Amino acid sequence: MPVDSPYPLVSIEHALTTILARSPVLPVIRVPLAQALGGVLAADVVAPAPVPPFPAAAKDGYAVVAGDATRHRRLLGEQMAGHVGHLRVEPGSAVRITTGAALPAGADAVVMVEYTTEREGWVEIETTVAPGADIRPVGQDIAAGQRVLERGTVLGAAEIGLLAAVGLAEAPVHRRPRVALLSTGDELGEPGEPLAAGQIYDSNRFSLAAAVSLAGGVPHPLGIAVDAHEAVESFLVQAVADHDAILTSGGVSMGKLDLLKPILEAHGEVHFGRVVMKPGKPVTFATIGDKPVFALPGFPVSALVAFELFVRPALRTMQGDAHWQRPRLQVTLAHEVEHDARRTEFQRAAVYVDKGRFVARTTGAQGSGRLLSLVGANALLELAPGEPLLPAGAEVTALLLQPIGA
Ligand code: AMP
Ligand code: MG
Repeated sequence: MPVDSPYPLVSIEHALTTILARSPVLPVIRVPLAQALGGVLAADVVAPAPVPPFPAAAKDGYAVVAGDATRHRRLLGEQMAGHVGHLRVEPGSAVRITTGAALPAGADAVVMVEYTTEREGWVEIETTVAPGADIRPVGQDIAAGQRVLERGTVLGAAEIGLLAAVGLAEAPVHRRPRVALLSTGDELGEPGEPLAAGQIYDSNRFSLAAAVSLAGGVPHPLGIAVDAHEAVESFLVQAVADHDAILTSGGVSMGKLDLLKPILEAHGEVHFGRVVMKPGKPVTFATIGDKPVFALPGFPVSALVAFELFVRPALRTMQGDAHWQRPRLQVTLAHEVEHDARRTEFQRAAVYVDKGRFVARTTGAQGSGRLLSLVGANALLELAPGEPLLPAGAEVTALLLQPIGA
């Protein structure tokens, strides 16, 4: 008698919708700018003050009255950036000024130093300037009250600089999800230690921790659980208490020691236990209380592909990021590709530009255990069920995971 799974195969779309409906947006916290990189803004940011806040010199030179036709002007002194004195420019006079300095009273233009000669308290002005020349007026870059950043923006270098430029020391962002990580399997050994007979090194705990960080989460690797009901159960119960999401790998297929599903059933609700995809078919999603639990397959590539398709969207959503979708591109196959005729298969590929077209080359053997197939891949080819042999030159859809190289 063939053993059949009690879990129906669900579609990728159904799985994702189910997950996103159970990925609550986390509360808003205020973080210092030094810790804001990658955070998702939880509120619009309005500039409390204009930038620049005073009329400022755009060049090194002399502050003058624009309408003044005098060639030789008396030098009244200087006004350096960051200093404001009591000098007042009038026709026949000028004040030496540096870029970023406030314009002295009376002046309405700056003459670049290149068009001047200064000698013994006098400056010769060798050009004429219009009012406002080389002055950055108040609010030229940012007006007071202007909305400079929108809620939902992911904070990068420019955005963090902008917050500082308008005087804000903190950013309101959604808290990052704390993600518990557990590898399951009697066969797993610790990298750095010698392997006992029959063991392999645990790689999922490390690859998934890195993937969690890249998705903006905070990984908490909790170690390896042996394939025993109590070990896995006590981990889960403990992890649920102080994490926002739980990620396990291994123990979800059809083997005798595939313990995850029954434990999740006992402590929470299993929403699906199989998805029509390759690799990653046994990926399982449950909730314990309101905490999402992702039980990923043990094969290292399956675990990372399932992470990309299901866990990353959840972690981004929990951070308030509505734009987590990867770009989808139409690419041309550089060579023939054989794929699963019945399940959507995600083959790892390098997409590059050739003669103005996007071309994809897969990364060699596509076994679920071959992590090397993800190394050097910047895309997943999304190969829909159907004709199992795609010729070179066929057009397929690629999910772009990383920028396209040369
Ligand atoms: P499982 O999903 O537990 O049936 O495991 C499927 C395959 O993935 C087996 O060959 C396991 O040895 C392997 N595997 C499971 N967990 C890990 C892990 N953490 N690191 C590397 N390989 C793993
Ligand atoms: Mg196992």
